[in-house]
Parts: sequence; structure tokens; C-alpha cells
Amino acid sequence: MKALKLKMMAFLMVATMTTFGLAQDTELPNVKILATGGTIAGSASSATSGSYSAGQVGIQTMINAVPGIKEIADVSGEQVSNVGSQDMTVEIWLKLANRINELLASNEIDGIVITHGTDTQEETAYFLSLVVKSDKPVVTTGSMRSSTSISAEGPLNLYNAVAIAADPQAKEKGVMVSLNDQIHAARDVSKMNTTNVNSFQSPIKGMLGGVFYGRLGFFREPLTKFGNTSEFSVEGINELPRVDIVYAYADMSPDLIDMHVKAGAKGIVIAGVGNGNMTEATLNAAKKAYEDHGVIIVRSTRAATGWTLRDNEFKDDDYHTVVSGDLNPAKARILLMLALTKEKSLAELQDIFDEY
Ligand code: GLU
Repeated sequence: MKALKLKMMAFLMVATMTTFGLAQDTELPNVKILATGGTIAGSASSATSGSYSAGQVGIQTMINAVPGIKEIADVSGEQVSNVGSQDMTVEIWLKLANRINELLASNEIDGIVITHGTDTQEETAYFLSLVVKSDKPVVTTGSMRSSTSISAEGPLNLYNAVAIAADPQAKEKGVMVSLNDQIHAARDVSKMNTTNVNSFQSPIKGMLGGVFYGRLGFFREPLTKFGNTSEFSVEGINELPRVDIVYAYADMSPDLIDMHVKAGAKGIVIAGVGNGNMTEATLNAAKKAYEDHGVIIVRSTRAATGWTLRDNEFKDDDYHTVVSGDLNPAKARILLMLALTKEKSLAELQDIFDEY
């Protein structure tokens, strides 16, 4: 009888706490949302206008616009920047990375969501994946339609991103990018369409997982080094070496290489034609840039998918070139900037491109 009474009392206490949201709140995972701007925070004068200003809406307004978000996680927000992501900078990346490392080192935070413009989201996500030192989930999201648009998809993308960041299944997956019910590895994803809500795809390796109104599952693991296995970090780093991208095309002039060397580039990524190719004159200029100035040349491709492979139409050693594998030019630039923070031989740089 006494035991039954005690059980009843315990039940009533739990029921009371749940009613007032106490038991629930203390058990919810803590997710911090770091807002950087973009279309998800954009607004337009009309719901049917495609033109709008990115980075207008603050983080609290965005959180308040997502029904049910507070039922899946204890969310709080911080505004890191409020820019269209075409204006994303190395300075903001460093600030973001340091803040994320600080937050994730604390027992108080279980996961991070970053809201971000879609134009350069894959770059920020890849940079963070190389320098965030934690196994906890970090998810970037955004939207293709502004917050005031008809059928704005930002609130559901944010809801899903919070659900991923709150889910222990999402640990040890590196930085993820989630829009349109999909979960992508930062390294593999690209913005493939200028306006479509299904813009983000991982054309070579496919998506990591899927998410449907907060319910999620994973299909594969990311395959390259990131997070705790990455040798790169932002500790003690205030800037990154300049690396430029040169887009190749028929009858391309070698002057482009010389211009970037003159401007102070320490590395140049060639968005080459096909398998990382460029005109013979440009290839010779690239060789000279390394021999005369130590500028590192990485061959990537302007093709939307596929690898650049060593020794395909010429011996890379003869021209001192490194190949990016399946890293697109924008991401190859990020990896090279980080790699150039360390002393590396060409062979070691090639290993980095093979492993990351
Ligand atoms: N250019 C803007 C940005 O990247 C808009 C693109 C978007 O967020 O969808 O922030």
C-alpha cells in the first residue's frame, strides 16, 4: 500500500512538472543557432517578388517563425554576421570557427546550427569541417526563398537543421549541410542551381542522409578527414594565405597566372577545362610561378562533376602541379589556404588533397 502511494506521488510530480514544461525543458538537447545572414534572413516588399535583400531578419525573429522548434530542442540564437553570403569573409569564418569550438567544448551545448546564404554555404561548411574540433553535430542551413516569399522554405529547413543538430545519430558526421529535406557532407555538396529549392546536391557521392519534419536517418558516412582527424585548426590564426581561382577556357591567356602572382597569391587553383587542363602557355606560366615565386598551383576542374587525376595528359611532377581530386575549385582553395599555414612539400600537399 505504502509502495503504491509513493508510486502515485512520483507519477503526480512528473505529471505536474511536464504540465509546466519543467521535465521536458531539462531533457531537451541544447542547440545554439549562429546566424550569418542570407536569403533565409532576407525579406522582399512582395511575397511574389524574386528580388529581395539578403540578411535583413534577426535570429530571434527567425526562431519565432518556426512552429514547434522549441519542442525539439532548447534553442538559443546568436547573430555572428548578417550578410548575403557573397560577402562572406575569412574574418567571419575565423570568428565562427572559434565561437563554435568554444561552444562545443562546453557540456551545455549539444549541437550547432548555422544559418547562411546559399551562394557560398558549401565553402563555409567545408572550412568549418576542417577546423571544428568536436564530434558534436554542426549543421548549416539556408533557403532559396526569402522569409517573406510565398512558400518560403526557410522555417522548415531551420526546423530540420535543429532536429539534426539535436540528434545523437548526427555525431561524428563532420559539418553537414541541410536544405530541402536532405543532409549532405560539407565536402561533397555543391549549389547546383541558381534559384531552385532543390539546389544543393552531392553529385559524386550522394547525400549523407535525409530528414522529414525532424525525423532523420543516415545512408552513409563521410569518407575523408575532418574534425578531430583533421590536422588543421584556427588556433593562433588571424588570417589565411591568399589563394586565388583562375577559370580556364579555350584560348586562355597565360597573363592571368602572372597577374595573380603579381597580386600576391601564394597559391592558385585552376578551374581547368575537363580533367584540370589549361592551354599549354598557361601551364608553362604555372610552372614558372612555382619555380620563380614558390606559388602552389592546384589543378581542379570547371566541370560540375568528376575528378582531376595526376599524370593524365602530362606528368604533374614536370610542372610542379597538384591535383584536387573531386574537390571543386572553391573548396580546393579553402584546403590550400589551410595547407599553406604549414610548411609542406609538393608531395605532402598532394597527400593532403588525396586525404581531405
Ligand atoms: N546571395 C545571397 C546569399 O548567398 C542569396 C542566396 C541565398 O541565400 O539563397 O546570401
